Amino acid sequence: MNSEIKEKDDLYIANTYKRFPVHIIKGDGSKLYDDEDNEYIDFTAGIGVNALGHNNQSWQQAVIGQIKAVAHTSNLYYTTPDIQVAEKLCKMTGMKKVFFANSGAEANEGSIKCARKYAHDKYGEERYEIVTLVNSFHGRTITGLSATGQDGFHTNFAPFTTGFKYAEANNIDAMKNAIDKHTLGVMLEMIQGEGGVIPLNKEYVQEVAKLCKKHDLVLIVDEVQTGIGRCGSLFAYEQFDIDPDIVSCAKGLGGGLPIGAILMNEKMEHVFSYGDHGSTFGGNPVACAGANVVLGYMKPKFLEDVQEKGKLFAKELKKLPHVKNVVGLSLMIGVQLDDDINVSDVANRCVKKGLLILTAKSNLRLLPPLVITEEEIMTGIKILEKVLSEM
Ligand SMILES: *Cc1c(COP(=O)(O)O)cnc(C)c1O
Repeated sequence: MNSEIKEKDDLYIANTYKRFPVHIIKGDGSKLYDDEDNEYIDFTAGIGVNALGHNNQSWQQAVIGQIKAVAHTSNLYYTTPDIQVAEKLCKMTGMKKVFFANSGAEANEGSIKCARKYAHDKYGEERYEIVTLVNSFHGRTITGLSATGQDGFHTNFAPFTTGFKYAEANNIDAMKNAIDKHTLGVMLEMIQGEGGVIPLNKEYVQEVAKLCKKHDLVLIVDEVQTGIGRCGSLFAYEQFDIDPDIVSCAKGLGGGLPIGAILMNEKMEHVFSYGDHGSTFGGNPVACAGANVVLGYMKPKFLEDVQEKGKLFAKELKKLPHVKNVVGLSLMIGVQLDDDINVSDVANRCVKKGLLILTAKSNLRLLPPLVITEEEIMTGIKILEKVLSEM
């Protein structure tokens, strides 16, 4: 790659990311191209963001059209795209209200504020604690880190936000023990994405939902990674047959532009009133014009195709050398490898051969665009096969 780019990045960009040595210039579908016109199959979709892949024409038209009309107004005035997206989200889920943010962390922050206010309004200061799960991930703000149930994220930045407690995942007794008179809610991912693509058991999730109903706790589902078709349904919680009070989403919603959203059900819809929460960029018309197109794709046939592609991935990945197990749901895929195989080593070798792939903990993680074709899937898997057979 162009060495000047790396030098300038080293000089001017904060040292928080370890980048692969690839300078991306353009994309098309599920393929990306670098500054030497090398082609890459994209099994990352910008970490679950580019749901419609790259260079999607209807998404571009909507976004460019909105930029030409008006790019930003603030929330002091009415605009159309945010209303269209909120209406779609509510009609598709039965939720009642939407608050727009700009990222997953912010959507979770707002969800936590909403849950706290519900409990304070109804029960007073007695209820102040939210139970989250060990190995969860809820974002990089101080409160997001506090909610995240991984010790590794609880260093360097003290003091952290208080009011969180962690229970072991898939262990209903641990959840029962964690819930006491101070508990106001429970926050979970249906599949722990950053935690290694670890799905929760359906029975466990249903038991947790029952406990929340019984004690009037706010059930928050963090669908930032699992949502917007990624798992073969608009939201993953649908497949667990539960009715969350709050759902947060982001990543795939904008199809490539920054956006986050908090969905609130009938129990929560009136919790926020004037001045309780806000965001300058929230509901930005350009981001929402993109999200509106993304949601337009989420029809039953499209979601069935996502499930079928997931099955194809699982079937083919299981055949590869060093693969112990394939986990996840539809196009949120975790690949467990033999213990002696280093996943970042695999990811680095894949890049050199033209495949972009993610890792999460000790697993490979695949979050391809939802529109990926069978041909692109097979090309990418062939590269992964070659890499693994050389290890
Ligand atoms: C990525 C992610 C977040 C954080 O989203 P950002 O947009 O990076 O702030 C929060 N929760 C989950 C489950 C995620 O996967």
